[in-house]
Amino acid sequence: MDKLREKLKEVFGFTQFRGNQGPVIKNILARKNTFVIMPTGAGKSLCYQLPALMQEGTAIVISPLIALMKNQVDQLNAFGINAKFLNSTLTKGEMTKVKKETLSGELKLLYVAPESLTKEENIKFLKQAKISFAAVDEAHCISEWGHDFRPEYRKIKGILEEIGDLPLIALTATATPKVQLDIKKNLGMDEADIFLSSFNRGNLYYEVRPKVHVKKQLIKFIKDNKGKSGIIYCLSRKKVEEIAGLLQVNDIKAAPYHAGLEPSIRAKNQDDFLNEEIDVIVATIAFGMGIDKPDVRFVIHYDTPKSLEGYYQETGRSGRDGLEGNCILFYRYKDILKLEKFQKDKTVTERENAKLLLDEMSMYSESSVCRRKQLLHYFGEKYDESSCGKTMWCDICKYPPEKFEGKEYVSLVLETAEKTEERFGLKHLVDVIRGVENQYVKSYKHNELPVFGQGKEDKEEFWNSVVRQTLLHHYLEKDLDIIGVLKLTDLGREFLVNPQPITLVKDKDFESLIEQEDDEQPFMSKSYDEVLFELLKKLRKDVARRKNLPPYVVFQDPSLEEMATVYPTSEEEMAKITGVGKGKIIKFGKPFIEFIQEYVEENDIITASDVVIKSAVNKSKTKIFIIQQIDRKIDLQEIADAKGLSYPELIDEIENICYSGTKLNLDYYIENMLDPDRQDEVFDYFMTAPSDKITDALDELGEEDYDEEDIRLLRIKFLSDHAN
Ligand code: ADP
Ligand code: MG
Ligand code: ZN
Repeated sequence: MDKLREKLKEVFGFTQFRGNQGPVIKNILARKNTFVIMPTGAGKSLCYQLPALMQEGTAIVISPLIALMKNQVDQLNAFGINAKFLNSTLTKGEMTKVKKETLSGELKLLYVAPESLTKEENIKFLKQAKISFAAVDEAHCISEWGHDFRPEYRKIKGILEEIGDLPLIALTATATPKVQLDIKKNLGMDEADIFLSSFNRGNLYYEVRPKVHVKKQLIKFIKDNKGKSGIIYCLSRKKVEEIAGLLQVNDIKAAPYHAGLEPSIRAKNQDDFLNEEIDVIVATIAFGMGIDKPDVRFVIHYDTPKSLEGYYQETGRSGRDGLEGNCILFYRYKDILKLEKFQKDKTVTERENAKLLLDEMSMYSESSVCRRKQLLHYFGEKYDESSCGKTMWCDICKYPPEKFEGKEYVSLVLETAEKTEERFGLKHLVDVIRGVENQYVKSYKHNELPVFGQGKEDKEEFWNSVVRQTLLHHYLEKDLDIIGVLKLTDLGREFLVNPQPITLVKDKDFESLIEQEDDEQPFMSKSYDEVLFELLKKLRKDVARRKNLPPYVVFQDPSLEEMATVYPTSEEEMAKITGVGKGKIIKFGKPFIEFIQEYVEENDIITASDVVIKSAVNKSKTKIFIIQQIDRKIDLQEIADAKGLSYPELIDEIENICYSGTKLNLDYYIENMLDPDRQDEVFDYFMTAPSDKITDALDELGEEDYDEEDIRLLRIKFLSDHAN
């Protein structure tokens, strides 16, 4: 051991082994098959790097990503270690060099992509070389039950056998019991020594938030954590671009990262993040594997991830230095449904796998059980009740949920599992308990069981949660061979004979927390300051009276509501309110800004200005086109045709343009549309009308005499003349 530590210090400059590193290395040096399960950032690489240096010959390291390989090889070379990689990016000359140094034994570590390993010529030369051992990094890629399945990983075992009788090291950070079993089976390492580290990351705070007002929450969070490094994960490239743009216009140093970016830009953004030129990287899951930035302070999942494994790996990238890491997940069930839809072209098995992973994800998010407890249970670890809150809490333990006595409920779940012969999954058990008489239930005659329908008083979500908690308490367990099936444990059998009081927690009703999908218009909810709103309405009336205009011409209600939400106290802030353009600020802005300033001071309101979201300039191409065409006095029908819009749709667009504050001169068109007398009639109407509703106008002016579209256009002209 002393010799090992000496070498550790000499080559890597570290004084201590971390966790299981020492025992793992000894095991490898004893030429035994070794299975290493350690969380992300724990230091798996060293487990094979150090023994490679201490033996004759070359160690083969199989690793799934070319970028990862390069990164590791660079780091090793920097330590003065001879390591190289073998993959499709090498030139002929480089290839020859790799082969030569492997055959001569100079090379200590050879990183190989699984694709390259399958090539006949590579197998041939590796057979001739002296190979010390083979390490399979990110070994979970072998399992389709994980989140990262690579079919080529399945061939590894056969090829390694061809190369020689080598000790095997498998390493992974994601091992649910099912994935563990898969790795062992596929690599033929049943007798391997397993080194399992605890997955608990005591320095990470876990929180799940309902996905509402998410942009506002995001910006507020980042501004509250100014200058700290963070990663935001989104599911699509498009979302990555959008959110990176949003952060940038809000003066946050952010950059996007996804597979669709030019490689040079991608590399630059990654480097900028590592070098702290930027604080926040907005990325798809393409970002992060093998990234070793120790001081990432937050990882935010803007979209719900596809699996708990992926989620755990990604959150694991925060707080690697052992200090604070905040992990926030924005969740809504709709995201889960969306992800399920993405699977529709896959095979049945793939779809079913994906669905089970997604179910785990949604149950985790909706559950009111300690996050840490759930995560550790998922990774097959026995949970110690005091694990949460030693350093950091999770949201559940910090704000404890309602609890209830669950003895009767758990008994019913266990009885149902037993009576259905422990051959079914959660959904079926819940169906039987709730008395759902579907085909499936009937085909097994489970509707004739005494337990059938005994829990029909309670909702499906409730029972899902009870079954989940029965699992978490180890009364039920997942069958490792047949995925989805739940079986009784010995504890569970005991409970059936002798039921005990058991405290369960009540889940929050997530969907009622998300009443409204308001991503795009975060300020349109009813959460405005009603007092200020009423006062602003009064002010609007005064201003309108003085200017001799109807109130809605000054500002419309949604604009006032928004003002009563974000309290704009300067012209710039006012300009960000929907429906307020430059023209309106000049004409009407001043009294409103002054009024809000006073109100804010009097009431000691901390203005939301630092939380206000500026949206990126959102004049879509179509809008710009329409504005240009109207400037050129092009016939409206022609504009509509050119953009493939119907006439009413075009008018919708024009209204939007006008309501967001851009002045449009439609005189050229209106002159040809209606004679001046009738125009005046409509204008007079709008001048005195209590509202600008089109239906009211049609009632008043007569539907026979005017088309809806005509009136809408005239209203636009009226508003343009007076309001913008
Ligand atoms: P993993 O592959 O498990 O996610 P890595 O092998 O990339 O983790 O290691 C994570 C970080 O921990 C690296 O920066 C590495 O240099 C560092 N590290 C590994 N072992 C030690 C040690 N014994 N002492 C200090 N730092 C270590
Ligand atoms: Mg690693
Ligand atoms: Zn907790």
